[in-house]
Amino acid sequence: MKPYLLPILLLLGMSAAAQEFGRTDTTLDVLHYDIQVHPDLHTQRLDGSVKITFTANGATLDELTLDAVGITVDTVVSSSGGVLQWEKDSTKLRIQLPEPLAAGEETAVSIHYQCSPKKGLYFVAPNATYPDDPLQCWTQGQFDNTRHWLPSHDVPFDKATAEIRIKAKDEFKVVSIGSLVDVALERRITEDAFNRDNPLDTVIYGTYRWVQDKPVSPYLFAFAIGRFQDLNLGNVSRFPLRAYADTSIPAAHLRKSFEPTGRMLTFFQDYIGYRYPWEKYDQITVSRFVHSGMENVSATILADHRTNLDDRARLNYSCEYLVAHELVHQWWGDLVTCRDWEHLWINEGLTTYFQQLWARHAHGEEEAEWHRYQGIERVLAYLDGEDPDPVVVQRQYATENVYTKAAAVMHMLHEMLGEDTFRTAMRDLARDFEYAAINTEQIRRHFEQYAGEPLDWFFHQWLYRADYPKINVRWKWDEQARAITVAAEQEINTGVGSMYQLPLSLSIGTESAELDTTVWLEHRQHELTVPLLAAPRYVAVRRDFPGSVTVEQSPQAAYAMLSDASFIGAKLDALKALKQSGIDRQVMESIGKAASTDGFYAVRRRAANVLADIAPDTVTYAGELRALLLTLTGDDDAVVRAHGYNGLSRFKDRELAPVFRGGLQDSSYHVEASALNGLLAVDTTGMRDLLLPRLRTSTYLSIVETSALDWVGKYQIEALAGEAVRLAKPGPPLLLRRKALETLFLLRYPPEELAGLLIAQLGEPVPDAKILAASALIALDPKNGKEFVRKKLENTHDPRILEYLKTIE
Ligand SMILES: [Zn+2]
Repeated sequence: MKPYLLPILLLLGMSAAAQEFGRTDTTLDVLHYDIQVHPDLHTQRLDGSVKITFTANGATLDELTLDAVGITVDTVVSSSGGVLQWEKDSTKLRIQLPEPLAAGEETAVSIHYQCSPKKGLYFVAPNATYPDDPLQCWTQGQFDNTRHWLPSHDVPFDKATAEIRIKAKDEFKVVSIGSLVDVALERRITEDAFNRDNPLDTVIYGTYRWVQDKPVSPYLFAFAIGRFQDLNLGNVSRFPLRAYADTSIPAAHLRKSFEPTGRMLTFFQDYIGYRYPWEKYDQITVSRFVHSGMENVSATILADHRTNLDDRARLNYSCEYLVAHELVHQWWGDLVTCRDWEHLWINEGLTTYFQQLWARHAHGEEEAEWHRYQGIERVLAYLDGEDPDPVVVQRQYATENVYTKAAAVMHMLHEMLGEDTFRTAMRDLARDFEYAAINTEQIRRHFEQYAGEPLDWFFHQWLYRADYPKINVRWKWDEQARAITVAAEQEINTGVGSMYQLPLSLSIGTESAELDTTVWLEHRQHELTVPLLAAPRYVAVRRDFPGSVTVEQSPQAAYAMLSDASFIGAKLDALKALKQSGIDRQVMESIGKAASTDGFYAVRRRAANVLADIAPDTVTYAGELRALLLTLTGDDDAVVRAHGYNGLSRFKDRELAPVFRGGLQDSSYHVEASALNGLLAVDTTGMRDLLLPRLRTSTYLSIVETSALDWVGKYQIEALAGEAVRLAKPGPPLLLRRKALETLFLLRYPPEELAGLLIAQLGEPVPDAKILAASALIALDPKNGKEFVRKKLENTHDPRILEYLKTIE
């Protein structure tokens, strides 16, 4: 699974809910689910039946306990047709078996049921808030949500085969897991037709029969129904690859997004040495998806906004790694699965690491290093935050830990084992645990066989500790002895006695080359002396572990590192060090050189960002800085160009107006937004004419509209209040509506009218719109807002609204 970026969740007033979870019955072993469902896209109800074939594992079973939430059970019958007694509470369905099932014996029960799920199965339809939404429904099983539409033993470790028959009107396409065996058509005379005495008025239903003949965890069961276009992406080996999306999405956008799938599949199955494990691979783009993507077995579901990228958006956004992520989950997660959510890193960490291996294969070592570098930055930010967790933890949500920290752990294992042994270990992991579920200790024992030594210390420090190593490095050149002494010291983390053990890879930069050496760190302090012919220029550290390293060295050393280091981590570290040390003319020039000429785009972007952050009125080299930033506005890279305009806008110089006007025509939405900000900061003539068309456009993630609204608020342009009102009402994306509301606050829009707007919004059908309006009403009237909102919303049954109401108590 790939969640949205956290800030979006926070903006919407939601948080990733932590849930306690206990272990479930391991005596019950489900073998097969024979499922029939008819989700009605108009009434948003589902009629279903499921025949569950199961066995007792190791002990006798007296009753069958299934997970079922919000499901109304009609009947339960045994395999011989006898009616069975059952009990249902809010989360479990307990079925009394006609006689105890002895260990190893097999039987089946059939359950007929109905539900109107609010989780697990989601219905999308045009409504008052989003009149253009398509009619669709789709599932999302992780975590523990399949139980909202299917009574099941909904735990990752109980894998079973499945047959899923899904009925829908024939105007829709139905995609699910496994192979499509047949579609049975049935013609039904509608009730309406009887009323109108017109028996020809019939509806045709199709029942799609999908067979999943290899066992999978119930959270990976899935289907999607919609008016989908169907894109053939060709075959790799014998596996057909297809993509589905609403017919309103331009096919060209989808083709570009999904085009690399075949090459990725070939790479992954070759690298792992284990062929693609399923019958086909479908990628289904749906509307209002709750994550970025979900790796259901052979039927990945993705958020439409992540894959529907126009050419302008593509200058700043890509879904390549999302596509790679969900694809390689087909091995790590789907074929080999974490035993329970405590070990989620086995799904997400291996997958994130293989996403980096794809980066290396497709774009080179530097791209992979850049992924690792950013990953470690994010992990440290997470671990520095409030109440960080270890990677292996009994909590049911995905943090940066289980993705990027675990991926860094996989990288370290890779380095430790070497390329060939690592690949063999991964191949054997797939072979030994195919269609099974494993825990952290099993994976440790597996890697120990290939490492030839115990790895308990390694797993313990990286997966079971919530802190991280902090290492300070100092170095000294002894001119007389002609030797460099490097001293590394680990900080002691409070509460955790032991030191980290890790190899610290140093690169000593000399006039002619870089000298690589590795210190094995296990004590608090280490010192190393290396003879050299001439004084070294810098010492860089390859930080391929989730920890922090500070190298104490002069700005001269840092800019030598920025221009000459052989790896991008060193250059990025040099940029950080230079920014901290204060930027004089010489440093600025060296950063400017990196921004315009470095061979790797991420170094150029970071360097441009550092330049854009310099306040020109605080430095003596404003003229040179300005010239540099002007050069950057002509760069090939859209991010570098945007930094160029952002930096120039700090000059507040009217003479730059023509430069900014030029930027308004830029092909990147972000650059256009930056140029608009720059222009309006120095020249407000014709502001209304600049803003109006930009408030009325529709750009990817509302980038341009949002920055135009910024100015409406900033300059209190009351003449454009009407536009803000329009954008705050139903229709526009929620993030834009939020911005429009903020703008109306800034415009001091009459409170009674604003309240009227918000109260109407409380009645909208979409929960997130209600939550946005509720938060705004509370902000508008902190004294009475909470009570008002609670009264208005307390009768809603939607779990998201109920969660929200708890947060305002
Ligand atoms: Zn994932």
